[in-house]
Amino acid sequence: MRQLFHPSLVNDVFGDPLLYVDFEDERRALLFDLGDISALPPRKLLRVSHVFVSHAHMDHFAGFDHLLRVILGRKDRIVLFGGPDFIAQVEHKLCAYTWNVVHRYEVELVIEVHEVGGDGLAQRACFSSRTGFARQPRAAVGLAGDVLHDEMMLRVRGRFVDHGTPCLAYALEEKARVKVAKDRLAALGVSTGAWLRELKLAVFAGVPAATPIDVRWRDRLGEHAMTRSVGELRDVILDVAPGQRIGYATDLCFTEANMQTLEAIMAGVDRLFIESVFLDADRDHALRKNHLTARQAGEIARRVGARAVAPFHFSPRYEGRAQALIDEVNAAWRGQSAPLAERHTG
Ligand SMILES: [Zn+2]
Ligand SMILES: [Zn+2]
Repeated sequence: MRQLFHPSLVNDVFGDPLLYVDFEDERRALLFDLGDISALPPRKLLRVSHVFVSHAHMDHFAGFDHLLRVILGRKDRIVLFGGPDFIAQVEHKLCAYTWNVVHRYEVELVIEVHEVGGDGLAQRACFSSRTGFARQPRAAVGLAGDVLHDEMMLRVRGRFVDHGTPCLAYALEEKARVKVAKDRLAALGVSTGAWLRELKLAVFAGVPAATPIDVRWRDRLGEHAMTRSVGELRDVILDVAPGQRIGYATDLCFTEANMQTLEAIMAGVDRLFIESVFLDADRDHALRKNHLTARQAGEIARRVGARAVAPFHFSPRYEGRAQALIDEVNAAWRGQSAPLAERHTG
């Protein structure tokens, strides 16, 4: 079945953490973190609708200027999510430039910023190029649990983990995967039409089964119309499967509280993107730096039941030894205490 989205790490494992999530059917993408984005060409940056920043350490946020420079005058809106003080952090970046001409640009750019608090609220503000990016407060939004962003076919959850500073771990979820069974469509005596899209949207929105759908189509015999319920059509002609889920966890220390948080948000994900900064031999150093070792990352992947694991954010001290970190992650994820190579010899 076709995937709604395709996530990929943009930079090398030693580069800044950056996950680009492309959508197959739309000219659109999501970004997780905003460090060095220079590997992304403008056409890919222009597709980004939402950016989810984990925390504002430079390696996760220094790409803001680059993004702004590419989209300014070309894109009308972008939404950024971040943790405590995020609105002020964005504002301070915007305040660092002179904006005496941007109000004349034909395309107005509005940057909408959501600052996630620990209080179940997201504070909001907008910054428009028409007004020299002056801060415009917007009403705070109440969050439904850990859901930070919700749209028809997907949602993004976020929870804070401890990294010596609050840091957001994210999960991206496709709500459901829906496939039309063409043969059963014929058996029902109907044909495809605009109503199919209406039906799919109704299923994604979770409307009551009794909700009527006007089924209209045209074929060589002319126009046809009938009314059927969402439940009746769904059960007969749609195959509904769970959607793809991915986790993005970077910059955190190995504590029981952090593990419980990750378990709550990303249990059973199809793929876990997780930082693996140090080798486990340097575990004490990792603790001081509030980062994970590769083995700890693998243990987390195992504990949350990730079906695949993609490590990144390797410390430059291991340049040339990436495979050692990868092996350590995989061994722990598979439940082997020692790296694979050692296991096979012993
Ligand atoms: Zn980092
Ligand atoms: Zn950090």
